[in-house]
Amino acid sequence: MTRKERFDRIIAYFLEHQPAAETELKYSTPYELLVAVILSAQCTDKRVNLITPALLHKYPTARELARATTREIFEFIKSCSYPNNKSKHLKGMAEMLAEEFNEVVPSDIEKLQQLPGIGRKSANVIASVVFKKPALAVDTHVFRVSERIGLTKHARTPLEAERQLVQWIPESLIPVAHHWLILHGRYICQARKPKCPECGLKEYCAFYTKNVKDSITQK
Ligand code: SF4
Repeated sequence: MTRKERFDRIIAYFLEHQPAAETELKYSTPYELLVAVILSAQCTDKRVNLITPALLHKYPTARELARATTREIFEFIKSCSYPNNKSKHLKGMAEMLAEEFNEVVPSDIEKLQQLPGIGRKSANVIASVVFKKPALAVDTHVFRVSERIGLTKHARTPLEAERQLVQWIPESLIPVAHHWLILHGRYICQARKPKCPECGLKEYCAFYTKNVKDSITQK
């Protein structure tokens, strides 16, 4: 199977089965998504969704969050991973958003990355989810699933994987493709035990063809 055929089939599969995949983080404004994305580093969306309601009720705007101390923020987010760092990032992000961006979340990926706690992956999430830009965030799930299926080849970094993926995915589908791959990695193509027998992509998956199918044939 050529790489183009593989992409075409995977995209067709997801368009049929998950046409409207979206983030599992709960938010109602771009500012709220920024807060949730900062909290979600190395933490589950489920945990983040438990933390954000009280935090955002107390600090509904960037200006209000900027006025909080890191100690006060810490108290709301201490059940999250890395609460000390994230308290600093949240305060720093809120200060910059309020003072330099007049509380308007920028759509530009470079500007987003100026905000504390926002790296390229998080900037791509904001740009694609809020502004529907063709920015593909590569997290650990997207990185692993893409390599296993054979969508990427020997990508050494998330940026390499991102560059390979966006060459083959139509621009209009890049925002949703991020969610397809994340959700597939979270629930089916899991890191330690991929659920290959129940996976709808197995016919098009390089890992399955090479490792699972061959071992079944040899028995
Ligand atoms: S067949 Fe297995 S390795 Fe391939 S995508 Fe599905 S779960 Fe992952």
